[in-house]
Amino acid sequence: MEQDHTTKYFDERDSMFTRVRLIKGSPAYREYYRRYPERREADNDLRECGGLMRLATAGGFNGSQIQELMPRWPNRFVEALMHICPPLRHSVTSKMKEQVSHIPDHLPDEERILALIDDSSPAVAACFEADRRKKPATKKVNVPPERMTSLVKEVASFYGASLAGIVELQDCHYYTHRNTGEPIHHGFKYAIVFAVEMPTEMINRAPHRETLLATCNGYVQAAQIGARLSGYIKSIGYDTSLSCMVSYDAPLVLLAERAGIGQIGRCNVIVTKEYGNRVRLGAVMTNLPLVADQPVDFGLKQFCMLCGKCAANCPVRALSSTEPQLVNGSLVWEHNEVKCMRMWTKTSTDCAICISSCPFTQGVDPEKTDAMKGNPAVMRDILREHTEKYGSRAYNPQPLPIAAVLK
Ligand code: SF4
Ligand code: SF4
Repeated sequence: MEQDHTTKYFDERDSMFTRVRLIKGSPAYREYYRRYPERREADNDLRECGGLMRLATAGGFNGSQIQELMPRWPNRFVEALMHICPPLRHSVTSKMKEQVSHIPDHLPDEERILALIDDSSPAVAACFEADRRKKPATKKVNVPPERMTSLVKEVASFYGASLAGIVELQDCHYYTHRNTGEPIHHGFKYAIVFAVEMPTEMINRAPHRETLLATCNGYVQAAQIGARLSGYIKSIGYDTSLSCMVSYDAPLVLLAERAGIGQIGRCNVIVTKEYGNRVRLGAVMTNLPLVADQPVDFGLKQFCMLCGKCAANCPVRALSSTEPQLVNGSLVWEHNEVKCMRMWTKTSTDCAICISSCPFTQGVDPEKTDAMKGNPAVMRDILREHTEKYGSRAYNPQPLPIAAVLK
């Protein structure tokens, strides 16, 4: 497959999710900011912010790292760890517990949020670890690639995927390194990428608790679907690698566009014809012979030029209002992750205002979606209908009962 001249390699250690997990003074912290001194100040500021992200990242360490870093940790961080990551609680010694004033019976607001993450992170980690332990069957089943391709998509759908597609992998599709610093094995030929729909009524409450419930659930569902799909492929004799919230082999947004699941929009994530950007992604890499899908072009990039609702609604201007850049064959808009995550620390959720803003998230008449490419009149008609119905964005301030009790 031909590579384009815009080829860019990505490193999972550069993702904000990995960067905010670095603890000041740790070897990984020193190594990272030796390479990127210009990122240190803004990242440190973000680390100092309270709220979801700083506390939620405590779960990113293994037992020996915790032991090593413990003497430098403030009490609040230990407390957060004990709430966030039950599998790591055994790493918290009685001496560490003495350092923590107490774990209150009554959970204040922030800890209710932590309890939500508490529920989802171990579920994702369990899927990931179980998949790592499972070996492929010794005897391979040989099925023609065309047939196998439709079977794996059926299996993904059976396990709960809303959409699925296949990519033939090139080296530049992979991250160079995992968030742990381990180089990534580029030995798999295909990725099965899938999307899981998140409910509209949850996303339209953005940036409130409902969105956090929806995204946490989306991550768990993606890990479960991926682990079960991976298990299916291993059972017919082929090795796999699961990409889910614990660790990703590749930036899945770019892969999802290659797999024809949707197109990358101004919001910097995948926008599907069916669900807009209210989806979470997962992937399974494998050498099982498959047939790759082609990217789709339903005219989204031109639509985003006219629309811009996600950028206009973003409270911190983290999304670009200018032209997109060509990266690895995809036109992508810039996204300021630091600004975005600052918003997350303010809301103690993952915001999602941009997801609720997208006309495709709310549903566009499929006939109009299919007719809009190269047709600005149809695009303007879609936008007009959306604005008449929702204004600048769909927003329902009335809490859902399941989230109201978390306030
Ligand atoms: S999640 Fe919120 S802060 Fe981040 S880009 Fe979307 S609207 Fe902006
Ligand atoms: S809100 Fe508009 S500009 Fe943003 S991704 Fe959706 S269609 Fe594109």
